[in-house]
Amino acid sequence: MKNTYSGSCHCGAVRFEADIDLTESTFKCNCSSCTKSRNWLAVVKPDAFRLIAGESSLSDYQYGKKTAHHLFCKHCGVSSFEWGDDQNLGGKFYAVKVACLDNATAAELINAPVTYVDGRHDNYKVAPAEVRHL
Ligand SMILES: [Zn+2]
Repeated sequence: MKNTYSGSCHCGAVRFEADIDLTESTFKCNCSSCTKSRNWLAVVKPDAFRLIAGESSLSDYQYGKKTAHHLFCKHCGVSSFEWGDDQNLGGKFYAVKVACLDNATAAELINAPVTYVDGRHDNYKVAPAEVRHL
């Protein structure tokens, strides 16, 4: 069942709401960016994401093919969500950092299923051979 979660960066300048079913899949990825930030994501469509505050506090970081916008707060440095637009992934999407959801309970996070994807090899359909360090 979808719940509305409130998310924020560390300093609180960036705040958003997202409608997420944490009993569906969450994602961890082994790409160069996700590995360094130990990224843990829930992916939602644009109609399930609302930026409440902080648009002017966001800096954008892009690399590689530049399909994803790796946004982060320019005051505290925390990345609380990103967005991308990729036809192979169903068009525009928001990828919310599960760790930045302020009203997700520990039990909800513990029980959230995790799908691992091999972003390092640009293959989002399979899990990497090793995932324990992600
Ligand atoms: Zn911040």
